[in-house]
Amino acid sequence: MKAAVFSYPPHVEIKEKEVPSPGDGEVVVQVKAGALCGTDLRIARRGHGSIREGEERILGHEIVGIVARKGKNVEGLEEGMPVAVAPNYGCGKCAYCVRGLAHHCPETRAIGVTVDGGFAEFVLIPRKAVAQGNVVVLPDTTDLVSISFVEALACVVHGFLPLNVGFQDRVLIYGAGPIGLMFWELCQHAGAKDVWIVDLSATRLKVAEERGARTLLAGKVSVKEAIGLVDVVIVAAPSPEAQKEALEIAGTYGRINFFGGLPPQIKEVPLPSNLIHYKELLVTGTTKSNNFHFRYALDLLTSGALNLSYLVTHVLPLEEINQGLQLMESQQSLKVVLVP
Ligand SMILES: [Zn+2]
Ligand SMILES: [Zn+2]
Repeated sequence: MKAAVFSYPPHVEIKEKEVPSPGDGEVVVQVKAGALCGTDLRIARRGHGSIREGEERILGHEIVGIVARKGKNVEGLEEGMPVAVAPNYGCGKCAYCVRGLAHHCPETRAIGVTVDGGFAEFVLIPRKAVAQGNVVVLPDTTDLVSISFVEALACVVHGFLPLNVGFQDRVLIYGAGPIGLMFWELCQHAGAKDVWIVDLSATRLKVAEERGARTLLAGKVSVKEAIGLVDVVIVAAPSPEAQKEALEIAGTYGRINFFGGLPPQIKEVPLPSNLIHYKELLVTGTTKSNNFHFRYALDLLTSGALNLSYLVTHVLPLEEINQGLQLMESQQSLKVVLVP
């Protein structure tokens, strides 16, 4: 089968790989669509701590497809069923796993990052992932391409829930990429009063404007002067300046999520911490997602509560993965979906 394989020096190439066959408790999914994510771009360009020199890894962790084969002792999944695959699974019994927080398990694994993923014709879902409910059956009518990025939405749901956004809230989102737009959609769904999206790129803000978002081009005007204080700030951009500004623009009792990680060369960011104290701000960060967030996100999409198909700006054959990565890098795309 064809697969998009990462190896060092950091690069991705299409290689011929053997079709996996399922062992006891395992499932093989025929991939119908796989969405590219910022994580894939970072791995492709810089590598990943879990991939050793000389090792190869099939990327792809935002995957939907059809159950192709199953091993012994797999219940609830039958060949031909359409499924979405949540990538993160854990040991199943540590203090984090028993709380449902497999993404914080010391032995956490991620399909497409620490084990082979779905930028291929077929992907093997390991026994623990199957047992922990990572393979979720979809309604037969689901348009697979338009929900292929559900894992990204799961991470956004994870970031959104602790902010308790309600109908009286004014919200500011830094970043008009796919993640920022997903946060905007969730804010609309929650009925927030006023939701702004700030970005450095006018091109990026265009989609947000078309969706009806209130937008602001950063750098041109003072965000605080233009918008005033807000109740919730979401920093969905890798920007230390935005993190600092978030503390200033949040009003009393404001809630803030530093959702986007910063590049590894930025070790420390000086922040006016007295603002946290005197305004009694709640500042958090969230990372990855677990199966609870994944099911939550999947339900939002398959129930029709959210229609995010407009986020898919490019559908490319798997062989063109490098073109897809370039489209992301040059910010010419929102979600790029690869079809084997
Ligand atoms: Zn992702
Ligand atoms: Zn665990």
